[in-house]
Parts: sequence; C-alpha cells; structure tokens
Amino acid sequence: MTNNSQSAQTYNNIQAAIRTSGEDLGFSEKTIITMTEPYNIINESVTVEGIDNPVAMYRVQYNNALGPYKGGIRFHPDVDLDEVNTLAITMMLKCSLVGIPMGGAKGGATINPKELDETQIEAVARAWARSMHDHIGVDQDIPAPDVNTNGQIMSYMLDEYEKTVGRSEPGMITGKPITLGGSQGREQATSQGGVYVLQKLLEYLPEKSGDKKVIIQGFGNVGSFAATILAKQGFTIVGLSDSQGAVYNPQGFDVEMVAEKKKEGRVALQDLFKNNDDVQHISNEKLLVQDCDILIPAALEHQITKDNASDIKAGVILELANNPTSTEADEILEKNDIMVIPDFLANAGGVTVSYLEWVQNRQQFYWSAKEIDEKLFTFMTDATDKVYALSQKESLSLRTAGFKLAVERIGTAVALRGNK
Ligand code: NAD
Repeated sequence: MTNNSQSAQTYNNIQAAIRTSGEDLGFSEKTIITMTEPYNIINESVTVEGIDNPVAMYRVQYNNALGPYKGGIRFHPDVDLDEVNTLAITMMLKCSLVGIPMGGAKGGATINPKELDETQIEAVARAWARSMHDHIGVDQDIPAPDVNTNGQIMSYMLDEYEKTVGRSEPGMITGKPITLGGSQGREQATSQGGVYVLQKLLEYLPEKSGDKKVIIQGFGNVGSFAATILAKQGFTIVGLSDSQGAVYNPQGFDVEMVAEKKKEGRVALQDLFKNNDDVQHISNEKLLVQDCDILIPAALEHQITKDNASDIKAGVILELANNPTSTEADEILEKNDIMVIPDFLANAGGVTVSYLEWVQNRQQFYWSAKEIDEKLFTFMTDATDKVYALSQKESLSLRTAGFKLAVERIGTAVALRGNK
C-alpha cells in the first residue's frame, strides 16, 4: 500500500472512531460531522527561490472550538493532503485529551530536505510562512516543529512572518530557540511527556515493566531524547534505528554517546557500530519484532500493521510517533494483551509545552525549567489517570478510552457554540 492510501485509511479510521465515541456519548449528527471534517484546508503551490519546481505547501485547520488551531509543520517527500488531514485530526484529539485550550491543525511542505542545502531549506521555510501568513497568528493558528523541522526553521518562519505583518509576534509559532522566546524544556517535551505517561501506567501495572528493555524506532528529536531520559531512569535501550537501518544489542547501548555522535553530523547508526561485534545490524522491519519489554515507535506512521503485529514481543507499545499502528494491528495487539499507549496521549507532551511557550510569549514572562517540568508532569499524569480510570471502568483499550475523553470535550465545545 502506498503512503498516500495508508494515510487515507488511517484518516477514515480516526473519523470512524470519533463517530463511534460521539454516538456513544449522545452527540447529535451535526456535532459529530463538525468534529470529523476540517474547518479549512489551505493547499498552495509555491515558487521558492533556488528550487526548480514549485513546492506543494499545506495547512489543514481541523477544528478550533477549544481555542486557536495548533500543530506542527513537516518537511518530507511523502507530505500530501491525506497525511496532513490525518495529522491535523490527531492534533485536535491530543489538545483536547490533555486539556489545553487549543484546537487542531497540521502543515507541511512536500520536499526532501536531504536533497536540499541549508540555503534552500531556509528559502522553503520563509516561503511557507509568507504564503500562510494570512491564516496563521498568535490568536489564530500557531505552528510548531515536526519531522525534519526544528528551532532554526521556526526562527526563519517567525522572522519572515513578522517582516510580512510588520509587528513583533513571538507567540505566532512555538518550538523556537530560547533566545527568540522559546520555552525551557520544549526540545525534550514530547519524549519527557511520554516517559511520564509510561511511568504512570507502569505504576498501575508494574508487571508490564518486565526487565525494562526498550527498543526505539527512529533516533531524531523524539527518539533520541526518549532514549537518554529512559536510560537515566534505569531502562536498558537494546535497539535503535534511523532511516538507514537498525542496531540491536541485548546488553544495551550507551545512548548518551550515540546522541552526541548523531548531533555532530549526519552519521548513520549502523556506521557508528560498524566494528562492534556485540551489535547486530538488522533492518528496520526486523527491529520491531526483536525481544524487548517496551517498544517505542518514534519515526513515521504506518509501522505496525497486520503483517508484523503478531510477531511483536514487547508487552507495551509507547506511540511517540503519530499514527504508527494500523487499526487491524491494534486488534491483534489487544488480543495478545499488549498494552498500546496511543499517540494522542503518549506524545502530547510536545504540544503541552508548546502551549506553555505560547502562554509565556503572551504574558512576556518566562518560567524556569523546573516550573515547566512540573506543569508538564501535571498535564501528562492527569490525562493518563483519566484515560486509565475510564479504560478500567468501561473495559476499554487505552485508545478507545482516550477517544471517548477527547471527543467528549471537543463535542461539548462544538455543541455549546451552536452546532448541536
Ligand atoms: P525527526 O525528523 O527529528 O526524526 C525522525 C527520525 O526517524 C530520524 O532519526 C529518521 O532517521 C528516522 N526515520 C525515518 N524513517 C524511518 C524508518 N523508516 N525507520 C526508522 N527510522 C526512520 O522527527 P521527530 O520530531 O523526532 O518526530 C518523530 C515522530 O514523532 C513523528 O511521527 C512526529 O510526528 C512525532 N511527533 C513529534 C513531535 C515533536 O515535538 N517533534 C511531537 C509529537 C509527535
């Protein structure tokens, strides 16, 4: 199946799950339709200086019943409308579930950053901000980083947006470097938030910890911080991967060292361990089915499917990537008693600290790393407690319980605004 049709299928499945929860909760057809269709789709073909062909650029503003639209921007060759819609509806659920006053959105540009130099990437970032400037803003829609975008790209976008609108507006984008109004703790927030969720659930279900052996797919922003945070908490990281391939070592990796080396340049994980006999070099597909207690997809979507779900050995899957598990795979995992911690809970730490960054920008008063961490902990553990309690009360998977809680809050906001 192509990435495009997989995204379309995931999108349909999420819409169907929202409908099921909505009907269960007694929302009207009008409310349900309002929650399952995007409010605005902006899709432009933009000429970018230094790049031969026009670049497809997207922003899907899914729903703003709870507050301004919020969601990251992805630079990737697979970015298309189906993918952006899917990520935008997921953002709507995420913001609702953790209880922040924001709606859902997502954006992207269809480029392969690996084929572009720094000047061209800057030109794409500036062109995205220029072409979207009428649709985004501190009270309207607040973008952030996602795959292949980072604090530097947010800085170019902030700069271009402010030049275009002619005023300072740091809260129009989050994930900025600290000097430009970024928040303490934003870089590692998605991973730290995911670890808080995991730890809370392991408090409820300590038998799921096993020997605390962890495999992480993807060693970018989210995967690398998850690895280093978990290693400090006494977990053993036995498997890692990047887009080039995977490495597995039952004795565990020195992930601080790996993160340092990766930061120094674009070095592939397998090249880092090419002369090490303790380390097995395997494919990304094989990594997912190696022996471990906790499996963390932290790369792209559509990784756990009906074809590999029954071979997964982990007892817990912490979805730090968005939409890594298909609906069919979910059913197999549930039957095999594997606890899946759904993306819209597991990786909501990123948008939570983005929200805190936005609050700080608006009040022009900044919190310490400790204050941010305490707030993140409270948001993540409160949401986890609610999801776990409902899953126990109604014998639901964590994903279904999460859907129900998220839909309840959005549906109520949508209905209060008159769509009932
Ligand atoms: P990133 O670009 O920093 O890293 C992505 C990593 O995945 C890289 O190491 C890349 O080599 C690897 N990768 C790509 N294809 C792969 C494949 N087929 N197999 C194994 N590894 C592969 O991106 P990120 O910001 O770390 O995001 C990772 C995931 O987390 C995405 O699904 C993203 O939507 C999600 N997410 C990110 C944030 C955030 O704050 N950055 C927040 C919530 C969710």
